[in-house]
Amino acid sequence: MADAPRYDLDPVDWDAARRLGHELVDRVARHLAHEEARRWRPLSEGARARFAGSLPREGLGAYAALEELADRLTSHPIGNTHPRFWALVTGSGTWEGALGELLAAATNANANGGQSAAVLLEEQVLGWLKEMLGFPERTSGVLVSGGSVANLVGMLAGLRQQLGPVWGDEGLVGLPRRPVVYTSTEAHFSVGRAVRLMGLGERSLRTVAVDDSRGVRLDALREAIAEDREEERWPVMVVAHAGTVGTGAVDDLQSLVDLAAEEELWLHADGAFGALAALSPATRDRVSGLEGVDSLAFDLHKWLHVPYDAGCVFVRDAEVHRAPFVLEADYVEDLEGGLAQKTTRFSDLGLQQSRSTRAAKVWATIAAHGTDRLGEAVARNVRQAAHLERLVRASDRLQLMAPVTLNVVCFRYVGRRDVQAPADLDALNRQILVELQESGVAVPSHTRIDGRFALRCAITNHRSRDEDFEVLAVAVESIGDRRAKA
Ligand SMILES: *Cc1c(COP(=O)(O)O)cnc(C)c1O
Repeated sequence: MADAPRYDLDPVDWDAARRLGHELVDRVARHLAHEEARRWRPLSEGARARFAGSLPREGLGAYAALEELADRLTSHPIGNTHPRFWALVTGSGTWEGALGELLAAATNANANGGQSAAVLLEEQVLGWLKEMLGFPERTSGVLVSGGSVANLVGMLAGLRQQLGPVWGDEGLVGLPRRPVVYTSTEAHFSVGRAVRLMGLGERSLRTVAVDDSRGVRLDALREAIAEDREEERWPVMVVAHAGTVGTGAVDDLQSLVDLAAEEELWLHADGAFGALAALSPATRDRVSGLEGVDSLAFDLHKWLHVPYDAGCVFVRDAEVHRAPFVLEADYVEDLEGGLAQKTTRFSDLGLQQSRSTRAAKVWATIAAHGTDRLGEAVARNVRQAAHLERLVRASDRLQLMAPVTLNVVCFRYVGRRDVQAPADLDALNRQILVELQESGVAVPSHTRIDGRFALRCAITNHRSRDEDFEVLAVAVESIGDRRAKA
């Protein structure tokens, strides 16, 4: 009998499929072992052209397709797997995490709930993360795509808790008073976006001034709350920071825990990268008080180096966490046995119904390295930030722009004090940054400190060596000297 025609999408020859897999793994391992290949470089027209190509009616076959894909992705990386990449706040990835992702994709579970290893794995990972950050075991949590969604989920739980069931039944329409959310002027834009998405309108967000350390001013916060109560608005929530995006500042978390309790406000913390300082005994005290918040957002793809994308949100009270999300439906009713036996239903804890086995790459990263080594990578970055700060302070041409609390250093070229200062320091430093990036020396990014343009290094990179910061400082000085003269 002739073979029946096949209608599925599986490989025809599993031996060939395995060989393709091996070759691909060899290839990415070679790529990652080659430092120069991982450097960011500007995209040429030729490189862009390669991404044209119209919709294929007929496939290329597995081998040609994957070969082409590997060429494309490894030829123009964003650069964050290179030791001198410190832009935005970008983690540098782990090999084990990448392989974990392969396993997750191949087993292809929908980790929304139900009886499966994917759900148990996420529960274990959440347990580990709670232990790592000093949260009680009963804390509720869920893996999400990143800090932005984690902020939204934590803040939604807080808003629902403060407003009560009217939030679900009536929504915000007809609330007698305007709810108000407080945060500092240093907040990441995802906080403002969460306020907008929650339907409160941006007028419900009060950004409070910061002190010299760039942490929120408690006196100003108390004043703002009192003023809002006076004027019949409704203070509901404070969003605190363990590591602001601009300068890595940490709010006085312990005092905010006390203030929120006194004022009966929900306390959410954005600890996107800073929360991970709790991983190392050398840096843990810089985020003390964190374990007292009502909800916490943090990333795993930044300072834990799990491949993108992975973040997490904790909510102290499990019922409060579920309240904004849970809805019953006939097709998800729990049964006594079988696939639909009651388990954690992660889809009740966030925005996603269908979910990947995100836990696999987190599990692989933590299980392979252990928290001592991961914590040491965090502490090393903090020491490197202090090293860069010293280099900047020791230079007669560089200026530190903000205090260094954790792993973020903001500075700029200002020229020698005894020589006339270059006219437009903002423009000059923009040019310096672009040249640094395009020449391939290093990739910091930028921000503004009190309106002035600054070079900014956010060091969440397990591959950076101390010498890399010396290379950076020397390059900024010499590019600055040359361009200031021109
Ligand atoms: C990165 C970051 C976010 C957003 O996290 P994503 O993972 O990019 O969504 C929020 N807050 C701070 C302080 C951050 O650094």
